[in-house]
Amino acid sequence: MALENTEIREHIIESVCSFTAHGLGVGTSGNLSARTERGFIVTPTGVPYSELAPDLLVEMSLAGEVIGSKLKPSSEWRFHCDIYKEREEAGAIVHVHSPFATALACKRKDIPAFHYMVAIAGGDSIRCADYATFGTAELSEYVVDAIKDRKACLMANHGQIAFDKNVHSAFKMAQEVEELSKQYFYTLQLGEAVILDTAEMDTVLGKFSTYGKQDGQ
Ligand code: 13P
Ligand code: ZN
Repeated sequence: MALENTEIREHIIESVCSFTAHGLGVGTSGNLSARTERGFIVTPTGVPYSELAPDLLVEMSLAGEVIGSKLKPSSEWRFHCDIYKEREEAGAIVHVHSPFATALACKRKDIPAFHYMVAIAGGDSIRCADYATFGTAELSEYVVDAIKDRKACLMANHGQIAFDKNVHSAFKMAQEVEELSKQYFYTLQLGEAVILDTAEMDTVLGKFSTYGKQDGQ
């Protein structure tokens, strides 16, 4: 039987293979998924990025069942599944242990509005989800809560999650979260940051709805 969704599978592999080059992770840390008509396709658990091939990715239904795959899905399939169920705008989800996001997450710090770009994730902060063991339903519950009204969150003593409409834009969101984490980390070396107020962040959020759109787009 011909492999379905080959283009999506190729985008997933391209993106995970560039985690390391973009400073988002090493080894087998992190995972990536994309929504399909039947549910979603996710990276298999514990397979080094460089060894992935389109047929080694795992398709799952939103009921959490594997659809005809040779390998076991990512240990974090639950939060991928739960985010797709909760957030219809999510087309792809990236989870990484990127160093600066993880450093803040290990201090269990939310990222406040220290910089206007925090609004890129959809609000005036990027929250840090409570801690639970990796791969558990409890972790998924905390993540779904922390990512409410946002496209990203940190995960206590673990890393970060970012989603968007497709693999490319979800990957870019994870890069933005890492960049903001780095900037906030450096700011904290100088003492407490000056935080933008809610009114200003509302203005920024309003401007973001039209930002970067050229005439005719
Ligand atoms: P998987 O290899 O099972 O996707 O696990 C990596 C990870 O980051 C767990 O949180
Ligand atoms: Zn992880």
